[in-house]
Amino acid sequence: MDYKAIARRFRPKTFSEVTGQDSIITTLRNAVLQKKASHAYLFTGIRGTGKTSVARIFAKALNCEALTKEGEPCNSCPSCIEIMEGRSLDFIEIDGASNRGIDDIRNLNETLGYRAIKGRYKIYLIDEVHMLTKEAFNALLKSLEEPPANVKFFFATTEPNKVLPTIVSRCQRFDLTRIANHAIINKLRSIAKELEIDVEDEAFATIARLSEGSLRDAESLFDQLSCLEARPITSSLILDTLGFVSRNDFFLLDEAFRDEDLTFAFTFAGKLFSSGKDITYFLENLIEHYRNLMLIHLRHLRIEDAFLSEEEKKGYSSSQAIYERGHLIHILDYLSDLIHQSTRPTYKRVHLEMILLHLLQTRKRISLEALLQKITTLEGKGAMVHPLEKPISVPIAIVEPAMEKLPEKILETVIEKRVPPSVRHDTILRFAQVEFGGTIKKN
Ligand SMILES: [Zn+2]
Repeated sequence: MDYKAIARRFRPKTFSEVTGQDSIITTLRNAVLQKKASHAYLFTGIRGTGKTSVARIFAKALNCEALTKEGEPCNSCPSCIEIMEGRSLDFIEIDGASNRGIDDIRNLNETLGYRAIKGRYKIYLIDEVHMLTKEAFNALLKSLEEPPANVKFFFATTEPNKVLPTIVSRCQRFDLTRIANHAIINKLRSIAKELEIDVEDEAFATIARLSEGSLRDAESLFDQLSCLEARPITSSLILDTLGFVSRNDFFLLDEAFRDEDLTFAFTFAGKLFSSGKDITYFLENLIEHYRNLMLIHLRHLRIEDAFLSEEEKKGYSSSQAIYERGHLIHILDYLSDLIHQSTRPTYKRVHLEMILLHLLQTRKRISLEALLQKITTLEGKGAMVHPLEKPISVPIAIVEPAMEKLPEKILETVIEKRVPPSVRHDTILRFAQVEFGGTIKKN
């Protein structure tokens, strides 16, 4: 089986087989049933969301000789069969990437005059339409302005912002959304059933997560996995195959953070290196892990709603209690700096050890927010006369190294030196920096 076999074999043939995009499908179906199709359509969306599949089904429905009462193409009349076999003279698919010049569009314009077979529309689908040159767009625009009767244009693109606005404004536009994980999971489940491949539930969720809303990516990945001999297909098999680290390893890292177990940095780096996993991938996964913890912390993500196995849910609920918000901000900031460095280093084992050590030592840092909170609490106990600035107005910053007694020490110094309240904020920062040998990082 070649690489794209599954995506091709399970390509939707009717509107009802399309995964996701419900409102778009309803609109198109109604246009077919009410015979009110516009003369130009623009389908946009990331790769693998079904743009050309939807356009093909729409074309079949418009030209079908035995349309069902639901507005579905019959898939058995001559027109449907010709379109499915790619030999229809009334449905012309053009790859905008390889036919992008003005001559290509001129050739197309010349064919517009030839009538479609009686009762049918002549439909042009230009995929990757954003690749057309400016001259080609202008030539196309002429045809769009005065479309011959019974001619329809379908355009598909991943980059609608690169399509000439005058073209866009003449189209009915449909933005196909990323496909929801549950819809991808359902589709994969039905494919696995039909192909009689044994797959664990958790593995479907992992594939869906990795494909980020692109059904085609999910299908290609599934195709790749189904060629392996191992059965059933499990989540850890997927992660292993792709060089990903399992979430459980991240939960172990969280525990090491809690226990301030610095030796973990060395054992873990050793394990990662000997398994030959891609370190850049690992770092991206690590960011995702901390991002999840942050979302949980901000109550933006409810663990019970996340697409996670029971074991992973347990892992996240223990891990989220380990970190304070300041820790997470610092770690995410640090990791995204690493990832976005303009020259990506080839990570050596020692780099990875240092990265992990840095993460583990974040626990020893104290956020300025937390610091000021502590000082405010002390003030409440009558230690100071003037109230401090509200912690909420303070930029998020990290003071390091943290010391157990730091707030009290700063407070003592502030009182002792009789610093006026207005400069207290800066003073705190300066004292933390100078008196205690720390560094301050403002975000
Ligand atoms: Zn038909």
